[in-house]
Amino acid sequence: MDRYSILRSINLDLIEYIQKKVRVKFDYRSRVPLCFYFKDKCYWIHEIVLAVKTYKELPINGFIVRSNKEIFFLYFHFFNFNKKKVFNEGNWVLSYKILNNDETMYFYREERNMLVNMTLKRIADFHGHVCPELIIGAKFCEYVMQLINQKGSKNSNIFIIAENSTSAIDAIQILLGTTLGNQRLKIIDKGKHNYLVYFLNEMVSLKFAFKYSSFIDGIDFISIEKKILENNATIDDVIQYQDLIDNKITTLMNLSPSDVFNVEKIQWKEPEYEISGSYFMCSSCKEIVLRSKLIYYKGKFYCSTCFNKIKCRAEYLNIQ
Ligand SMILES: [Zn+2]
Ligand SMILES: [Zn+2]
Repeated sequence: MDRYSILRSINLDLIEYIQKKVRVKFDYRSRVPLCFYFKDKCYWIHEIVLAVKTYKELPINGFIVRSNKEIFFLYFHFFNFNKKKVFNEGNWVLSYKILNNDETMYFYREERNMLVNMTLKRIADFHGHVCPELIIGAKFCEYVMQLINQKGSKNSNIFIIAENSTSAIDAIQILLGTTLGNQRLKIIDKGKHNYLVYFLNEMVSLKFAFKYSSFIDGIDFISIEKKILENNATIDDVIQYQDLIDNKITTLMNLSPSDVFNVEKIQWKEPEYEISGSYFMCSSCKEIVLRSKLIYYKGKFYCSTCFNKIKCRAEYLNIQ
């Protein structure tokens, strides 16, 4: 179970309440629990999944922890918190155990057709979790598949340029079979869900641009995200955060591909491929570089890293 499914399980009350005082070995330097004792057994903590506050005004005192394959929520209950004191009295409480559930089941609660479910299961299994970007990628693929079927074409005859390097890339690689490895997918990361699709047989290229404006994050989302990044979030904050993300996922899942993307025809240009097997040595670092990636500068060939260093130095010294 990953962090996403853990938070979903808590939100859905898929937990087993324990609510017992326990003894904890705590590392005061890194300020995390190392193990706890429950039913005469020592549970070593292998991972702190999340560190949160149980009260806004108090410091971090709650931990979602992984011990072997089990996940627990453990917190320190302060008797009387005093900011000025280094050590505050209280006791540890083992609050609940999180029950294991199949993550994709969460999204199947509503009735949907089997095909959609199977597709989601396939990409979620490969990617490791369900997230909004994965669904955007899946919607894009659904759109492309519709066009391929209309044209009576094949997946193997398309080339894609993706303008982001998010989880959407996994959906594309799985569902369309255009991968970075087979060079039918290229990433030019601009942080946008834009995709250029080249239908090689027809010599037609289309630009898919993400248009779903409700996807832009609201103030509540941004403020919780800020709290989480600053280690200032309560357990309720992180659960609410996951809930907002899940709302995005379910909304996206129920939209038709044409609600998610604008499509326009763009001028055809044969995509550039890497010629496999053609390598050269960088004049500076002596590393072997794909020939098409070399940069020719003042009579020598450089890799992009070395070229950028030379260029920066030249600009710094104000020489060309
Ligand atoms: Zn993801
Ligand atoms: Zn180099």
